[in-house]
Amino acid sequence: MTDAVEMLATLVGFDTTSSKSNLDLIHFISDRLAAAGVDATILPNADGTKANLFATIGPKRQGGVCLSGHTDVVPVAGQPWETDPFLLTDKGDGRLYGRGTCDMKAFPACALALLPEMLEKPLARPIHFAFSYDEEVGCRGAPEMIAEIGESLPKPSVVIIGEPTEMKVVSAHKGMWFFRTTVTGKEAHSSQMQNGVSAVMVASRLVAKLDEMVKARAAAADPDNGFTPPYTTIHVGQINGGTAPNIISRHAEFVCDVRNLPDDFPEDIQQEFVDWYTAEILPEMHAIDPSSGIETVTENVVAGLREDRESEAETFVRQITGDNDTHYVSYGTEAGQFQQAGMAAVVCGPGSILQAHQPNEFIEKSQVAECEAFLRRVIERCRA
Ligand SMILES: [Zn+2]
Repeated sequence: MTDAVEMLATLVGFDTTSSKSNLDLIHFISDRLAAAGVDATILPNADGTKANLFATIGPKRQGGVCLSGHTDVVPVAGQPWETDPFLLTDKGDGRLYGRGTCDMKAFPACALALLPEMLEKPLARPIHFAFSYDEEVGCRGAPEMIAEIGESLPKPSVVIIGEPTEMKVVSAHKGMWFFRTTVTGKEAHSSQMQNGVSAVMVASRLVAKLDEMVKARAAAADPDNGFTPPYTTIHVGQINGGTAPNIISRHAEFVCDVRNLPDDFPEDIQQEFVDWYTAEILPEMHAIDPSSGIETVTENVVAGLREDRESEAETFVRQITGDNDTHYVSYGTEAGQFQQAGMAAVVCGPGSILQAHQPNEFIEKSQVAECEAFLRRVIERCRA
């Protein structure tokens, strides 16, 4: 077992499903760093149950390269796993199985395994570690750490988010924008529709409108813009409402998940939707019951990553990987959040997104080796 694989086995052994605490893992990393003489800053969340970790290796100053990733993993519940998901398993087929192997504990595992090499000789530019919590539930942890960067923490000039890209350089990704719409109707016997406002039926008209809006975007999309699909998607994945078939429902609500092209403004989409129902639906509802209504609240926002081919992160990572192709992805990462805070960021890490969030998640051993080789070149470049 190489040091990186051994470290991956240790990290996979911590069940850091987003609904649970990641503190055991964070303390393991900070102890490991402390043993090597590196102080880590632990940034706990509001109730102290989870934490981000930031550490600087080499000169304590601004600039340098930040190796970043999330420590949480998605749940295994209900998935048909053939092995213990929290025990790294080598079946002899060139793959290492376990939850988080590809998304995304292999990248921090490689970084930690190479810590002795980072410390072997002095670095001219610092290497930073930035490990977050709650990425899998809407990139909620990293913003608290990013807020401290440039304040109590040094500001890197290059940020590499090691999400699984098979070590290709991903320059752009879509943003994420969630909003919740709640419809308040008026109950009545289902045979007396003229006296009631059905929250469920209003909600279904609202969802149909969102479907129209996404179809309009699909029809107007530039098929060659690099994204799959090449337009901003507007999707309702959850809807609740009503209490019985024969009661006109008082309550319905749904959550809309917008995945926007980095140059689209999801706030405009939400506003277009609100303007539409305010003009088209609310007057009918109010004619029956003025206290009925519709409310829309933004729930979670994750910035997209805009392509910046001239950025220091692009140049740095492309020189190391030799990858000069253009890669965009449709899933969100923390890269957009770092970029929004004024840091050049790209996504580049081991493993394939096709194995992420799956039962029997795995990473090819060759990907771990490729990531180690990549990080050795990062270290070399930080020496010069
Ligand atoms: Zn991930």
